[in-house]
Amino acid sequence: MKHNFGAGPCILPKEVFQEASEAVIDFNNTGLSILEISHRSKEFEQVVVEAEALVRELLEVPEGYSVLFLQGGASQQFAMIPMNILPEGGKAAYLDTGVWATKAAKEASKLGNVEIVASSSDKNYTYIPKDFVVPADATYFHYTSNNTIYGTEIFEKPKVSIPTAVDMSSDILSRVINVADFDLIYAGAQKNMGPAGVTLVIVKDDLLGKSGRVIPSIFDYQQHAKAGSMYNTPPVYSIYVSLLNLRWLKEKGGVSVIEQENIIKARTLYDEIERNPYFKGTANQEDRSRMNVTFVMDTAEQEAAFLELAKERGLIGLKGHRSVGGFRASIYNALTISSVNALVDAMKEFEEKQG
Ligand code: PMP
Repeated sequence: MKHNFGAGPCILPKEVFQEASEAVIDFNNTGLSILEISHRSKEFEQVVVEAEALVRELLEVPEGYSVLFLQGGASQQFAMIPMNILPEGGKAAYLDTGVWATKAAKEASKLGNVEIVASSSDKNYTYIPKDFVVPADATYFHYTSNNTIYGTEIFEKPKVSIPTAVDMSSDILSRVINVADFDLIYAGAQKNMGPAGVTLVIVKDDLLGKSGRVIPSIFDYQQHAKAGSMYNTPPVYSIYVSLLNLRWLKEKGGVSVIEQENIIKARTLYDEIERNPYFKGTANQEDRSRMNVTFVMDTAEQEAAFLELAKERGLIGLKGHRSVGGFRASIYNALTISSVNALVDAMKEFEEKQG
């Protein structure tokens, strides 16, 4: 048995893999593979309609927002956001909490002026900056709610008076959010929503059509919204597997139920990191992520030995990102508490072996 702690693409529920594999051979008793039917067929249109409806239901998306399934990953959104909402010569405010936030700001700076309102780069992004001022004359404020690499997370939206765009790639659908707090939410699917290849965008319709820019159609949110995410051939299989995963989440009881499980999983692991003298958390305690738990050991030898023990116990995907080192346990929705317990047991075993 493997316990997959990979950061993304990552574990999805076994039932989802099973159903997804069946649809490759025979989709909904059509006698055809999901991979060979037209994206304009009734059967596939139903998939998109249901996936959108489930996103709206699970996240309680209010009226006045478009829900889009796009391609190009979260990285394409780094560019699409300023293209769509930042006027020529306009200013956007960005909070710098890590590599992804930096990349987002860099793309925006190609299209306008970017003000970095605060950065935690001074301590290798181990904390979330708190007291910063967002300029009221900026068109929008952007931040990353979960910093996948560093294991920090922003649970409360910073108080700002301008429209806010948030990258929720690694914590969307893991906890209850108030969509109305945001003007644009985006997430690459490949953590809690589904497989790689599709990107979720939830955008307030009022925000669009005001930048005065000429936007190539493929990058224009309004074109995608008008076409119901079918402006061109969508990533059909990624959307289908996301649908299966959204159904799974709904059956479990929805986001509020999975949030409680995620709280328990994170607490179990952080408690052991605090208790066990061989492990040390890297993220500032009050900013710790519920999705990516980062920790280190005192020496490279200990880390190599623990990684080996983890491998023997079927615990995989634990090696930390090269910019942090040590370990990163990604404990997304589909990872069960029994996998977290297996990791905790291995940490205890390591401690005992040291005598
Ligand atoms: N933002 C965050 C928070 C991420 O974790 C990632 C990738 N893991 C990205 C953006 C980039 O996503 P993509 O590879 O889909 O472009």
